Amino acid sequence: MNEIMKQPVTSVNGIGEETAKQLQGLRITTVGELLEHFPFRYEDYKLKDLHEVGHEERVTVVGTVQSEPSIRYFGKKKNRLSFRFLVNQILITVTFFNRAFLKNQIVVGSELTITGKWDQHRMTITGSECRQGREEREQTIVPVYSVAGKLTTKSLRKYVFQAIKQFGTHIPDIVPTELLEAYKLPTKGEAVHRLHFPPNAESMKHARRRMVYEEFLLFQLKMQAFRKANRENAKGRSLLISYEDVSSFIQQLPFPLTGAQERVVNEVMADLRSPYRMNRLLQGDVGSGKTVVAAICMYVVIKAGFQAALMVPTEILAEQHVQSLQSFFEPLGIRVELLSGSVKGKKRKERLEALRVGELSLVVGTHALIQDDVIFHNLGLVITDEQHRFGVEQRRVLRDKGENPDVLFMTATPIPRTLAISVFGDMDVSIIDEMPAGRKVIETYWAKPDMFERVLDFINKELQAGRQAYIICPLIEESEKLDVQNAIDVHMILQQHFQGKWQVGLMHGRLPSAEKEAVMEAFSKNESQILVSTTVVEVGVNVPNATVMVIYDAERFGLAQLHQLRGRVGRGDAQSYCILLADPKSEVGKERMRIMTETNDGFVLSERDLELRGSGDFFGTKQSGLPDFKVADVVHDYRALEVARQDAVKLVNSSAFWSEQRYADLREYIHEQGILDGQKLD
Ligand code: ADP
Ligand code: MG
Repeated sequence: MNEIMKQPVTSVNGIGEETAKQLQGLRITTVGELLEHFPFRYEDYKLKDLHEVGHEERVTVVGTVQSEPSIRYFGKKKNRLSFRFLVNQILITVTFFNRAFLKNQIVVGSELTITGKWDQHRMTITGSECRQGREEREQTIVPVYSVAGKLTTKSLRKYVFQAIKQFGTHIPDIVPTELLEAYKLPTKGEAVHRLHFPPNAESMKHARRRMVYEEFLLFQLKMQAFRKANRENAKGRSLLISYEDVSSFIQQLPFPLTGAQERVVNEVMADLRSPYRMNRLLQGDVGSGKTVVAAICMYVVIKAGFQAALMVPTEILAEQHVQSLQSFFEPLGIRVELLSGSVKGKKRKERLEALRVGELSLVVGTHALIQDDVIFHNLGLVITDEQHRFGVEQRRVLRDKGENPDVLFMTATPIPRTLAISVFGDMDVSIIDEMPAGRKVIETYWAKPDMFERVLDFINKELQAGRQAYIICPLIEESEKLDVQNAIDVHMILQQHFQGKWQVGLMHGRLPSAEKEAVMEAFSKNESQILVSTTVVEVGVNVPNATVMVIYDAERFGLAQLHQLRGRVGRGDAQSYCILLADPKSEVGKERMRIMTETNDGFVLSERDLELRGSGDFFGTKQSGLPDFKVADVVHDYRALEVARQDAVKLVNSSAFWSEQRYADLREYIHEQGILDGQKLD
């Protein structure tokens, strides 16, 4: 591509070896990478009236100091300084964290210019800058960068400014001109310049739109090219399916399929019969019955003489799937085995051998399935359950284990359909949008933690009626250790409380696998009536007799995760309950609890969640298989994603795209991604 952009950052005047090393900490090594290190927010130095400023917006105001600053210290390095401040007749509080050194500058009666974030409810500005007197700047919007090591936002501004000065006119445009013109978007050089140093908010938004479109277009081109290659690569197999066979298998199931399950089974059958390779995403809310759909698909593939593999994210889930699949398959003489980290030694060797020679046709496992020594005889179908938990790479490795096996990804992460189609642009999408008949709506309550005693009474009543209960302990970010400690404590308290009455099991990620298995088995056989657990039971666990789900510190979980957890109950005919123990402090936190009590529908919930959050880690961050967009946000910029997808489809299917010079850069980009290696195009 453009050689100038690939030059080392040291070719920017003022950046020496030392700075270059610092920049590496931000994964910046080339001029191009420096230019695309965009600000994550802007400081707004335009003076504003507090009445015009929304909650949590950035603001700059001028006012007079009304009180001596008071300082609180928390340990050696942390402190909070605050004082009263009068802005245009409005008395507010200004707070600075860890800047106790400002105290001499804050003199009662003096005028200051303060920049920071406005909290409308607490009438407080959390300050980031404090300047003497009234200070209005010409450059009102100033970039703030993520930094590391010794780098500061200020120094980055300087480097980026210099880089633009030297190389700004050489920034190449990868988006074809006709598209830029159609959408009235600026050139990339202009967009980069304005994203770093916008003359005003309008111009910054315009520049941002351009970068968002570019990121999405490239992403979708990759997806669509991949999809096209898949389609045209007729190496997929077309399976011989006996419909009598399939329907007799369905008939011997303990329940009739729902309409939605039937429809999805038909969609998959059509894929399996076609000479194309299936690459399908199956979405269905928790409890909608995805497992049985998977079983039917695997049955068909095995009957046609191939092997099938089911990959799941946790051991517990793998074991449970083995059990439920065995109940379907063993009567038919089809062997189902587990392959996970806990299967070791002779057993493992024996199973690997059976897979290699083709004696074993159905295997369920964790990521142990994608290890090098796992070799399949003729893998025909790969299914992944709760696919959002696997990275794209892991899915690819598994797929590569057979000769173009058909692939089905199952997920309970409710994503609005249109969004799913755009995000998983290389896949077909099926949706199970109907619950098995007779399901009762789970009643969800929000209780304050001090009502725990009453909750225990309630649990007791349900247990007396022969039911079982889960108690999920809080998830404390980045610390599995603390999670476990919490669960252990709660387990002890409950054991004492229910002593001699009920058995209380304990489950967490640190237990050895054999013990996990034993705990889970005891709970599913109702040998223990209460299961205290960390979030390891979040996905897929199926104990239909459990009717109570209590979630501690529910405000710490995301809505999608709460919904997943809630989905562990309500799996049988009995009325089930979910109790959220939470004391959220923020309005949004309270609203989230209310939403949980108001709807049971994962899709509605995800839409409300989007409204609340606007954007963010909706897809559970890194695991989603989405690239890290620098500027774009799939939720916030959803319309642009849809437009980019349509454009990518058109491009990839036009012969001009594959022949004409003006698309050369885009073609090169697709090939650079490596995704088409070995795939035949046009
Ligand atoms: P999920 O989609 O969350 O993976 P499961 O496949 O675990 O859901 O199914 C949830 C429960 O519903 C299981 O106990 C399963 O046996 C049951 N089930 C699935 N399909 C039906 C159906 N058509 N009628 C009645 N029960 C069903
Ligand atoms: Mg499931």
